[in-house]
Amino acid sequence: MKVITLGSGGWIPTNKRHTACYLIDTGESLIILDTGTGLSRLPDYKGILEKYNEVNIIYSHYHLDHLMGIVYLSNWAKNKKVNIFGPGRELGFQSCKTVLSDLLKPPYFVDINSIYKELEIVDYNLQGFQIGNLKISITKQIHKGGSFGITLGNKLHYATDTIECEETFKKAQRAKLLLHDFWSLEPEDNNEHSSLAGIKNMLKKFDVVRTGLIHINPNWNQETIEKLSQAILDESIFIAEDNMIFNL
Ligand SMILES: [Zn+2]
Ligand SMILES: [Zn+2]
Repeated sequence: MKVITLGSGGWIPTNKRHTACYLIDTGESLIILDTGTGLSRLPDYKGILEKYNEVNIIYSHYHLDHLMGIVYLSNWAKNKKVNIFGPGRELGFQSCKTVLSDLLKPPYFVDINSIYKELEIVDYNLQGFQIGNLKISITKQIHKGGSFGITLGNKLHYATDTIECEETFKKAQRAKLLLHDFWSLEPEDNNEHSSLAGIKNMLKKFDVVRTGLIHINPNWNQETIEKLSQAILDESIFIAEDNMIFNL
């Protein structure tokens, strides 16, 4: 499985980082986790896109920094079947179909149902689902309005936009890579994102192979990020950047 960080930033795109979007080539299918502005980097990985007739998108939640890149996708995937999986009514949202249709209808955009060769929009629940032979597990997280962790087989656990939850780290022990939300050094009140101190505490309790910190605070400049990287002092934790490629 190849995992590429198309957008490792949180909330606001910066010169260095687009917002949440991760491209995965499982060898059997193409999966995109969240469609933030990082989706604009997709043509840099045309080779992967050209290999597949279907694009699978999985949403962690519907905050706009994770969603807005969906309006770029038709530039490269109009002739493909697009399957979209997102949290629905069972998980406290409107159905994924309603959320997307409401957001993308005129005058904001063109009707999403009229764009692709074929479009399927499916609500997921805590039972998870399959894409081909790959098992997708869903974990409840704590975040404003709700968000969900996504595990791909025994390879990747994606936990963006959440405070540190025991269940996340427990599940991530079975994966080769954990991509985890990171917003501040110390816990902040009323924020519902994660801090380095909180993540390190969890990693003391749970045996996670490798942790990449994602959804990086857009207010940090490169100098701050370099200082933070040095302060981490742990080989198994790193601050993710856009266009990193992991072979899991
Ligand atoms: Zn976010
Ligand atoms: Zn969010």
